[in-house]
Amino acid sequence: MPEFDLYRPSEEHDMLRDAVRSLAEAKIAPHAAAVDEEARFPREALTALTANDLHAVHVPEEYGGACADALATVIVIEEVARACASSSLIPAVNKLGSLPVILSGSEELKKKYMTPLAKGDGMFSYCLSEPDAGSDAAGMKTKAVRDGDFWVLNGVKRWITNAGVSEYYTVMAVTDPSKRSKGISAFVVEKSDEGVSFGAPEKKLGIKGSPTREVYLDNVRIPADRMIGAEGTGFATAMQTLDHTRITIAAQALGIAQGALDYAKGYVKERKQFGKPIADFQGIDEGMVRGCAHPMGPLRLADHIGLDTTLAVAESLYAEFREPLYAPPPLLCRMVQAGRLGRKTGRGFYGHPGTVAYGGA
Ligand SMILES: Cc1cc2nc3c(=O)[nH]c(=O)nc-3n(C[C@H](O)[C@H](O)[C@H](O)COP(=O)(O)OP(=O)(O)OC[C@H]3O[C@@H](n4cnc5c(N)ncnc54)[C@H](O)[C@@H]3O)c2cc1C
Repeated sequence: MPEFDLYRPSEEHDMLRDAVRSLAEAKIAPHAAAVDEEARFPREALTALTANDLHAVHVPEEYGGACADALATVIVIEEVARACASSSLIPAVNKLGSLPVILSGSEELKKKYMTPLAKGDGMFSYCLSEPDAGSDAAGMKTKAVRDGDFWVLNGVKRWITNAGVSEYYTVMAVTDPSKRSKGISAFVVEKSDEGVSFGAPEKKLGIKGSPTREVYLDNVRIPADRMIGAEGTGFATAMQTLDHTRITIAAQALGIAQGALDYAKGYVKERKQFGKPIADFQGIDEGMVRGCAHPMGPLRLADHIGLDTTLAVAESLYAEFREPLYAPPPLLCRMVQAGRLGRKTGRGFYGHPGTVAYGGA
């Protein structure tokens, strides 16, 4: 820790971390492996986070929220991710989805949607990406056409986190095709609006408990006052939102890696070979020390436990997807089978929460 107060979290932030860690260990971690294995939404985590007002801590006080600052929000996400990567996308995407309303929405819109979000009556998702508009988000095709006091939306949004579970969706759509990014506007769409439906959950390599689905908008007719900010400002709002929320995904990655490291710290003390805990062997011991001490900490540790664990992961991917890309390399198989790379270490990690976390990272 640097001897520099500017970067030291306040006592309140440390207390928040302790509280979230205790909650996550007691109520979220016990379900993490099943959530991943069954690729199911982490309901238990949503209940626990909502009961403790941790599901959307960023919501301002005037709408019933905790009005947590950016650091407090990332501490919540990091600590939840340490226990369960999928669950961390509850607070993270509630912020991502609702921030456009907080940044640019009218007072009425904020009151209408931030209040139920703060209460835990409905989650938010963020709908920017489309099948042909990923990095080039301004190339989106979803359209909104004005019809009297309504807007009518048509299009497909892809890769939408928590789609189908969330009640509310911030949707970016083209309102003036001649102006590219300046012709995009943002709207709040509700799950119950007629014409809203969802695709099948994507099959992902990790973070399987967080549903990622397409959102279909088929003549969805919404009142004009659901537009967020002025017409043509939706893309700017979407980009400002990402400026505030990229850090939440970094917090998620850090939490996942920290969870893997903390799990490994316990495992190497408990697992015995040649009559003593494997933590006592120089390679493992050095690896743990370097992993814990390195600024990139847990990520660095992956290098040390890498090869045999990599083989175990490759085998499981190959068994599931039959993709030649994942076929375990023959030389690595032979060396691991000959015991040269500690096959048992790989087996030890494989199927344990640490491997689930490693997959998520
Ligand atoms: C699990 C998951 C959850 C997601 N959740 C959401 C969500 O909730 N809401 C939402 O709106 N979106 C979501 N996304 C979509 C995500 O934002 C997009 O995947 C991302 O914007 C990249 O788009 P793409 O996948 O189409 O990749 P592409 O844009 O096709 O890019 C493919 C590759 O080309 C590279 N590339 C592209 N353009 C350039 C360039 N100009 N120069 C150099 N390299 C370039 C990219 O870096 C990348 O490596 C999610 C995606 C995933 C995988």
